Amino acid sequence: MTTARLPDAPWRHRPGFDDLCARLGAAEGETRLVGGAVRDGLLGLDVADIDLATRLRPDEVTQRLTGAGIKVVPTGITHGTVTAVLDHRPVEITTLRSDVSTDGRRATIVYTDDWQEDAARRDFTINALYADPATGDVSDYFGGLKDLEARRVRFIGDPAQRIAEDHLRILRYFRFLARFGALPPDAAAYAACRDNANSLMALSRERIADELLKLLALPDPSAVLRLMIEGGVLLPVLPEIEAAGLARLEALIARQQQAGLDMPPAAVLRLCALLPPDADVGEQIAARLKLSNKARKRIVTALTPPPAHASAQELVYRVGTEAALDLMLLDRAEASRNIGPLSHWNPPVFPLSGRDIIALGISAGPDVAKLLSTSKEQWIAEGFPDANRARAIAQAQVAEFLRSRQNS
Ligand code: ATP
Ligand code: MG
Repeated sequence: MTTARLPDAPWRHRPGFDDLCARLGAAEGETRLVGGAVRDGLLGLDVADIDLATRLRPDEVTQRLTGAGIKVVPTGITHGTVTAVLDHRPVEITTLRSDVSTDGRRATIVYTDDWQEDAARRDFTINALYADPATGDVSDYFGGLKDLEARRVRFIGDPAQRIAEDHLRILRYFRFLARFGALPPDAAAYAACRDNANSLMALSRERIADELLKLLALPDPSAVLRLMIEGGVLLPVLPEIEAAGLARLEALIARQQQAGLDMPPAAVLRLCALLPPDADVGEQIAARLKLSNKARKRIVTALTPPPAHASAQELVYRVGTEAALDLMLLDRAEASRNIGPLSHWNPPVFPLSGRDIIALGISAGPDVAKLLSTSKEQWIAEGFPDANRARAIAQAQVAEFLRSRQNS
């Protein structure tokens, strides 16, 4: 077994953390760091969420911590997890356990004192590393250290069986592959994910959406999405995602990087790239994945054809900055270049109102609204000139209108 030590890092000295570990008997070997914290810590990445594994039962954990004035929330008590709130941030504490029966969605569990048994119920070898919170000494029962070094994402045990226990692991596999893995993927894991893709249909759409959006939010998930799409993994739940979408996704990511915009990669926008440019499809997918209203609107706008020949500023004016950037990043608008400065451009307000039209000699009524609207269109087409020019535009429009009325 390879040995290793977790490098020291600020996250390990979060205020109150030493005390919490002491109360949970870390020095006596009762409690260890586990999962993402160990994996990311070994890679020298920043660790935001700390997970602890403990031999203590949840009621014992709760008792010891609340006794010390630490707030504890029973966040997942049916599978042995409580969450301590430390310095306003969560520390998840899960009692060692083993899954006795599973149905692909949830497990019935029993507690255990055996670290290796707890490791065996975890999904991937790189996620089953434990570390002593004080010394940083790592315990590795399934070759996770070597896999981490080789950037191999490997199931613990037989991939098909592990997927049968919990189908979400298919999507987790690809997410961790995109985050940590080198390609090509582990052949057995990839084959099992493909062969069992239909089992994703048994999962709730919210859980699928949550995993998929986490994958799409990674810096560059396109190579892994290619594997998923080519392997038909998303076909059972998202048949609308087309192979042609991959090229759009790659182009989107490249454009996001080129634009150098100071914005996080928007998972929802990346989903749009994978979908056919059809607002109805966007609407259906948003409903199926039970996305928020905000996400649904964003998808629908991004998949609706923008006005032809619109300048970048015109797009911003018509649909707002975020949606205009989306359209340009997706290259759905002609004005796709020169994205950078736009995010700082505030669309001006059209300087005229119905009163200005009335003042030009049109009596109140539908003609006012019509002339206001045609004047505004011209103002947009001219690139948002100042109020004087706007008035001149309206004057010309009114004159033209009166002339045509006389002639008819
Ligand atoms: P992240 O940085 O995404 O939070 P993580 O490894 O901490 O990565 P979590 O989803 O927070 O992932 O889960 C914590 C740990 O719990 C994992 O590292 C893994 O050991 C275990 N785990 C979580 N979900 C599953 C699952 N579906 N099947 C098996 N083990 C799981
Ligand atoms: Mg985590």
